[in-house]
Amino acid sequence: MPSNLTAPDASVIEDLVSANHILFDQGVVDAFGHVSVRHPQQADRFLLARNMAPGTVTADDILQYELDGTPLDAGDRRVYLERFIHGSIFRARPDVMAVVHSHSPAVVPFSVSRKQRLLPVCHMSGFLGAGSPLFEIRDTAGDGSDLLVRDDGLGRALATSLGGANFVLMRGHGSTAVAPSLKLAVYRAVYAEINARLQMQALQLGDPEYLSAKEAQAAMASTEGQVERPWALWKADAAARRKR
Ligand code: MN
Repeated sequence: MPSNLTAPDASVIEDLVSANHILFDQGVVDAFGHVSVRHPQQADRFLLARNMAPGTVTADDILQYELDGTPLDAGDRRVYLERFIHGSIFRARPDVMAVVHSHSPAVVPFSVSRKQRLLPVCHMSGFLGAGSPLFEIRDTAGDGSDLLVRDDGLGRALATSLGGANFVLMRGHGSTAVAPSLKLAVYRAVYAEINARLQMQALQLGDPEYLSAKEAQAAMASTEGQVERPWALWKADAAARRKR
């Protein structure tokens, strides 16, 4: 590590490695997608793996970045094209400590539907609040883009679409979950995918009654207070899978 960088606690790196493995094990990310955490001692930096599949990340692969996406200790290693998602949100949202970007499959249809927003079907996804905002990249990039958040300007536009929400849909691409802790960001990314599946089933039955905004707020407070329970389960499950 270069001498001008502050090393975060080993536990922060360890949790970020676990988050990568959990998100793969839970089907939120595949070869693509990424998870970051704000540097605990330096609010203007964040930690994110080098360009690689999340399921194979180790502690040695975690790099530091400036909020404008500049990698600080990458050396010859390639970095994620869409790292601007993370830095732009950390800059716009001081309350956010972790970000998960994915293309988790059940969520994607809600990014393209002109009629259906992603709404909280049950108490486990109260963080979806009054419904997820949508990032329409065409409004910023124009027609003909590759849909990727490949520069700081597009990152800023995404952060604007996210606003004060916990989750933003990205049209024709995927989604991004944010939270005040790494464990909660992972929880929200996993349950957004579950909620999307449940919402499609509820829509097949017809005319679903979603959580009200007040119910969503109350449910979020009670379920997310227990985030250590799913984290411990998912971490053990991911570790067992890696041994097989
Ligand atoms: Mn992407």
